Amino acid sequence: MTDVSDLRIRSIGDPSAVRRDGRYVLYWMTAFRRTNWNFSLQRAIEWSRDLRKPLLILEALRCGYPWASDRLHGFIIQGMADNEARLARRNAFYYPYLEPEPGAGQGLLAQLAEQACVVVGDDFPCFFLPRMVAAAKRQISTRFELVDSNGLLPLRAADRTFARAFDFRRYLQRNLLPYLEPDSLPDEDPLSNCRLPVLDELPRGIRKRWPVAEPRKIADQLTQLSQFPVDHRVAPGAIRGGAESAERAWHTFLEKKLPCYGESRNDPDMDATSGLSPYLHFGQISVHQVFAETMRRTGWSPERVSAKASGSSHDWWGVDESVESFLDELITWRELGYNMCSRNADYAAYDSLPPWARQTLAKHADDPREHVYTLDEFESAATHDPLWNAAQRQLVREGRIHNYLRMLWGKKILEWSPSPQSALATLIELNNQYALDGRNPNSYSGIFWVLGRYDRAWGPERPVFGTIRYMSSENTARKVRLKDYLRRYGPD
Ligand SMILES: Cc1cc2nc3c(=O)[nH]c(=O)nc-3n(C[C@H](O)[C@H](O)[C@H](O)COP(=O)(O)OP(=O)(O)OC[C@H]3O[C@@H](n4cnc5c(N)ncnc54)[C@H](O)[C@@H]3O)c2cc1C
Repeated sequence: MTDVSDLRIRSIGDPSAVRRDGRYVLYWMTAFRRTNWNFSLQRAIEWSRDLRKPLLILEALRCGYPWASDRLHGFIIQGMADNEARLARRNAFYYPYLEPEPGAGQGLLAQLAEQACVVVGDDFPCFFLPRMVAAAKRQISTRFELVDSNGLLPLRAADRTFARAFDFRRYLQRNLLPYLEPDSLPDEDPLSNCRLPVLDELPRGIRKRWPVAEPRKIADQLTQLSQFPVDHRVAPGAIRGGAESAERAWHTFLEKKLPCYGESRNDPDMDATSGLSPYLHFGQISVHQVFAETMRRTGWSPERVSAKASGSSHDWWGVDESVESFLDELITWRELGYNMCSRNADYAAYDSLPPWARQTLAKHADDPREHVYTLDEFESAATHDPLWNAAQRQLVREGRIHNYLRMLWGKKILEWSPSPQSALATLIELNNQYALDGRNPNSYSGIFWVLGRYDRAWGPERPVFGTIRYMSSENTARKVRLKDYLRRYGPD
């Protein structure tokens, strides 16, 4: 096992405060909720091995987070059940905790940290997690490290925020390869053949006040989610959460769908995309695994990479068009959002839009709108447009929208809202409440793309949009097949 690179480790407390007489090394798993291809887990194992102390993994789920619902809780708990099963056979003490009411979990991390030699956490740049980690830092006096297992490019590798995918892609073409060397990748299975002392039981007092949860019991019986004070109107989505389901979805895609991805990804009737975004969001699968297995399958080697670094999304990796196209979404587009969120705390604010976009939207803010809907009307799919309503119904029922229609869905919210600021609020609310992959850096990439981020001005100048890129349902209907889609997501 190679050591995790310093570029991925951020010590946020006193780095010298390693408590050598502590009882264990604590890995606080909050974002990379998996047992393989995980730099944070790997780093915690390094500490356990070096200090000859047991490894304790805390995976907790609060219930007072924004948009907490049966959908999000169920998905995460199914992931915890998979982690419990995978770790049952390993040299690590897995401690799943499910908070029964808001605030009940307060103090748990601090108490566990009191007996820890070192605390290792996940460095996720979005949603409430950076705030939660900052609050935890104030309660932890031992060495506290955050580890970045977000993407192929470490968050701290780039020294600027990229305003266009083209520039970021060109940067990646020049700089990414060294991070793909075998000794820069996370271990596929860091706990295998790993000799660590074993922790027999949790510290006294902890178990009683914060009982060990049984995620497996809930994962198979989601009706039990009624015990948690979360939004029960947002029902579990169309797919099961957890690393096992993530790997099944991934391997089905790799074997059956990837060869046609290039030509079929925009076709809503085809279901040709990977469906991985919820699993990537909750850290139940790693982008490193997806990348490594894709490349292994294509027989790729680094010599095949184009030396041109032209910024073009074609002919970069030296693999076929479908794979190039998938890698461009998975790497360029996905990691562009992480670059933004990790460097700009205002990533969700209207004023973070590029100046040209704000100017053109301001110029057209008072334009008359042919249709204006409230949040409730949008939410209940009560617009005049059957295609938009179908996309919204898919989101509410299943927790996802096909990528192509998601763009149209967003553009119409801009067109039919009283102002671009209220469109932004509606987009954030609906996307983050219903989408399984919401609350992610890519949520803000997609939503802000609707309003001009990562894009350029397009003519002709139109009412409401100004020079922001426009999309219409009529054009979409001409471009892609929608018959099955409209039937499937028709009114109840
Ligand atoms: C209005 C709007 C809102 C969006 N909200 C989200 C969101 O909340 N969470 C989210 O992950 N994505 C979001 N996206 C981006 C995109 O729609 C999804 O990532 C994609 O549809 C996920 O489906 P998939 O996993 O089958 O993707 P695939 O096509 O199989 O792509 C593989 C992976 O690449 C990444 N990816 C693909 N397309 C994009 C993209 N356009 N931008 C960034 N990364 C991409 C995702 O991680 C995805 O899982 C949004 C796009 C728009 C227009």
